[in-house]
Amino acid sequence: KNKQEILNKWITLKYEEKVDYSLIIKIMLISSLIIIIFMYWNRKLFKARNKLDQANKENEKHLNVINRHILISNSDTNGVITEVSDALCKLTGYKKDELLGRNHNIFRHKDMEDSIFKDMWLTIKNKKMWKGELKSLKKDGSYYWADVIISPTYDNNDIIIGYNSIRHDITDKKRIEKLSITDKLTGVFNRSKLDDILNNEIKRTDRNEYSFGVALLDIDNFKKVNDTHGHLVGDKVLILISNILKRNIRKIDLIGRWGGEEFLIICPQTDKDGLITFAETLRKKIEVYDFEGYGNQSASFGLTVFKKGDEIENIILRADTALYKAKKNGRNRVEL
Ligand code: GH3
Ligand code: MG
Ligand code: MG
Repeated sequence: KNKQEILNKWITLKYEEKVDYSLIIKIMLISSLIIIIFMYWNRKLFKARNKLDQANKENEKHLNVINRHILISNSDTNGVITEVSDALCKLTGYKKDELLGRNHNIFRHKDMEDSIFKDMWLTIKNKKMWKGELKSLKKDGSYYWADVIISPTYDNNDIIIGYNSIRHDITDKKRIEKLSITDKLTGVFNRSKLDDILNNEIKRTDRNEYSFGVALLDIDNFKKVNDTHGHLVGDKVLILISNILKRNIRKIDLIGRWGGEEFLIICPQTDKDGLITFAETLRKKIEVYDFEGYGNQSASFGLTVFKKGDEIENIILRADTALYKAKKNGRNRVEL
């Protein structure tokens, strides 16, 4: 009996040992599988995280470049600045914390008309994008010209929560534009710009009913100024006369240098009588002006008014003929 018991024990033991091996193999297999899957996922996760990190770094790099080089600002719905790029700070001369919390009109230049900003607010409040050129103030009182795009930003319910502006510095472009239309000596428009203005005025007047007037002005005996005092004084007198003209024209009138000592004034929405009165005023202003010890000066005026069908050549020819008449009739005169 004892023997049998011992034998049974052994048999059972043997049997149990067999079952254990297969289980161990199974467990090992499953474990390995789990470990492999785990490692695989880990690797995948690691890669994804790396990729994300890299993307974040890349984004940060891009944001950094934008911040340093692009002129950006954000504001709330009242125009109070909520964010501003370093580039805009650098351009305007402000520190970031000097701008945050301030109203955007801190950049507003007095040369920009109210109507521009009215139009801008109307546009962006209506959920549209506004685009325009603005002369803007820097901290030190100087200015820059910017090409500006302003667009609204929204919350999830499509309600405007603020505005976002991107600008381009176009100061150089503006400077060149100005040079290309200005007479260097006197600062009034040059001949080429006068041609453009005349063309526009002809088109505009053809469409509408009112007329426009033109005054061609020639300084009298100007050669004598040069001969007596020299060319530099001659230049000075030209500048002084152009200043008299600038000071005494209306806001809508346009003035340019037509040639050597000749100026052309274009007077929109002006009839014959208005033009004569206007030219007489200018003539007198020049006649009484004290030219800083270089003697009194005078000018003769040839006037004409636009007629339907006119082209630049007709208008100038009539003004020139009238000017010739004024010279012939004794100078310091106005002729139509
Ligand atoms: P008139 O009353 O008939 O117009 O006589 P004028 O002497 O004014 O006319 P003229 O055409 O004989 O002479 C014009 C002079 O203007 C000659 C020219 O040297 C001078 N002139 C033209 N442009 C300039 C300029 O930019 N600077 C100076 N200093 N003189 C100029
Ligand atoms: Mg002349
Ligand atoms: Mg002359």
